[in-house]
Amino acid sequence: MVQMPVFSYAPVDIHSHFNHGSPFDEVNSAIPEEIHNHQLDFIKAGYDHIGVSHAGLSTYAAVEHPECVAEENRYLYDLVQRTDWMRQWVVIDPRIPETYRQAKGMLASDRVLGIKIHPDLHGYSILEHGDALFSFAAAHKAVVLMHPQHIEKMPSFADRYPEMQLIIAHLGSTAHVDAVERARYGNIYVDTSGGASNLNNVLEYAVSRVGSEKILFGTDTYSCAFQFGRIALSALSEQDKENILYRNAMRLFPAAF
Ligand SMILES: [Zn+2]
Repeated sequence: MVQMPVFSYAPVDIHSHFNHGSPFDEVNSAIPEEIHNHQLDFIKAGYDHIGVSHAGLSTYAAVEHPECVAEENRYLYDLVQRTDWMRQWVVIDPRIPETYRQAKGMLASDRVLGIKIHPDLHGYSILEHGDALFSFAAAHKAVVLMHPQHIEKMPSFADRYPEMQLIIAHLGSTAHVDAVERARYGNIYVDTSGGASNLNNVLEYAVSRVGSEKILFGTDTYSCAFQFGRIALSALSEQDKENILYRNAMRLFPAAF
C-alpha cells in the first residue's frame, strides 16, 4: 500500500478565497454552506489538519462583484498585514482605475503575491484588456493569477510581456499544458486549484509534457485534503511532488514565504 511521503517543507496553497460577512459574499443555493464551507476559520482548520503553512487569498466578493473590488482589496490588505499565514492577491478590474492604483502600492508588500484577475465573473474580455493588464504587471515584475479565459491566446501575451509571470488557474485541459509549453520565455504556469484535479491523469499528463516546475498547488476552497492527497499520493516522483506543493511557490515568490 502507498505510504504518505514525508516532505521537507510545508505545502503552500497559492489560490483560494473566503467569505467574511460582506453583502457580496459567495452564495450558492444549489451547493449550500453546509457541504461547501467558505468561511475563513473552516478553511484554516483544513490547512492546520494537513500542515499547509500559507495561503494566497482574495475574497469571494472581490472576484465576483466589480462594484466592491477596491473596498475588498483594502479590507484584505489590512487583514493580511496582521495575519502571518495569509498572503494576498490584489484584485484588478481593468475598467476601474482605482484598482490599478491600489495594486501599484500593495505590490510593494512581501505579503502580496501579485495580481488576481477574473475576466469571466467581472464580465470583460481578456483579449480587450490583456495588453493593459499584462503591461502593467510587466512594469512591476508582478505575477498574475488569472481565471482561465482564451487560454490559447495567452502565450502571445506572455511573449509580449516576458517580465510578467502568468499563472493560468484550474489545470484541467490540454490547452493549459499547451500554453505552458508555448510560452517562449517560460513565463506561464498553471495551478491545481478547483475540481478538475480529479481527472485521473491530468496532473501526470501535464508533468509528462512540461515537467513539474510550472505547476503550483492550489485549492480554490475545495477540500484541502483532496487536493493535497491528489498530489502527495500520486505516482509522481518525490521531487515533482515537492515542486508542486512548495518549491515552485518559493521560487516564484521568494520574498513571500
Ligand atoms: Zn479562484
